[in-house]
Amino acid sequence: ESYLDNAATTSVLPAAAQAAMEAMTQCWGNPSSLHGRGIEAHLLLERAREDVAAALGCGKEELTFTSGATESNNLALFGAARAKRRRGRRIVTTAFEHSSVIGAMGQLQKEGFDVVFVPPEPDGTLPPEKIAEQVDKNTILVSTMFVNNELGTILDISRIGRLIKRQNPDVLYHCDAVQAFCKEPFKAARLGVDLLSVSSHKIHGPKGCGALYLKKGVRIEPIVFGGAQERGLRPGTEALPLIAAFAAAAKESSQHMAGSRDHICALNASLRARLSDLDGVFINSPDTASPYILNASVTGVRSEIMLHALEERGVYVSSGSACAKGEPSHVLSALGLSRPLADSALRISFTYESTQAHVDALIDSLRDLIPRYRASRRG
Ligand code: PLP
Repeated sequence: ESYLDNAATTSVLPAAAQAAMEAMTQCWGNPSSLHGRGIEAHLLLERAREDVAAALGCGKEELTFTSGATESNNLALFGAARAKRRRGRRIVTTAFEHSSVIGAMGQLQKEGFDVVFVPPEPDGTLPPEKIAEQVDKNTILVSTMFVNNELGTILDISRIGRLIKRQNPDVLYHCDAVQAFCKEPFKAARLGVDLLSVSSHKIHGPKGCGALYLKKGVRIEPIVFGGAQERGLRPGTEALPLIAAFAAAAKESSQHMAGSRDHICALNASLRARLSDLDGVFINSPDTASPYILNASVTGVRSEIMLHALEERGVYVSSGSACAKGEPSHVLSALGLSRPLADSALRISFTYESTQAHVDALIDSLRDLIPRYRASRRG
């Protein structure tokens, strides 16, 4: 099997599965209980928080566990916008954010906020200046992703942070770092952001768990109300098995990061070169994209058709666009990609487990399938 869809999700590391199992069978107390079972669970929770904070490069008191990055993004955006609503109504983001940001922004618009969606350049990049120039005195919040999940575009987060704070020192800056965590080297506390979202299942942890970094001293409002867990910011009994597994994955995946960079860059270079050799195949990702994600169009064959044809050969990729009702994704639309290119886009995404044999299997299959499917279309 050649699993090349790691931007969608990753396999669960044995150490993560084991940590979840141990929490479920041996440490099943409620971290809020005052007796020994509770204290034991509380200690496990706080150890997990230390491990994720160490991998993220922040203080453990700056970390809130959530049910995943969709919730982290929603908590960050609604929490910050509502906390700042008296200071202004303007929010700046990009047109190629993940749907969990785009969707939250749509709801904020309904609540009366003015949201500006800055589009990427036709080559898929997004210069920090384009974002900063939209920030004015009325702007309360800026949210940009670190690495785009469809194209791999890397945004210069430190520079965006510096530029927007120069325009307006009161603005809060949130970063969706889901596709950068354990891939791009960064320390959340040194990045110049106020809030930052990550997800467990993109770094070989289980699904249904994530975290929000909230810089010390920054106040936002909760979006769920009830108990005092997670300092009242995210009430509800903590999902300790998932959190313990997330921590185990963060520990192991962050250790892999530096060592696997060269390997991933070599795989990406090989994939790019060999795709470019194929007739009618065009690469949509910018040259400067993350080596973990490559988006390419196989003109003349619809994404879904090729995806399933590849699947029959044990090669797993994603359609470059999470197509909604036959329309191209908002990301490819924001790029201004032509319809034939958007409709035939595939996303290939790596992890440190990816190998040259996976790339070879993909290229060999494409070489076989392309003429067949293009011919059958004409015939
Ligand atoms: N943000 C980005 C950039 C993503 O790629 C994803 C995953 O699809 C998410 C947010 C949502 O993460 P989760 O699946 O943990 O809700």
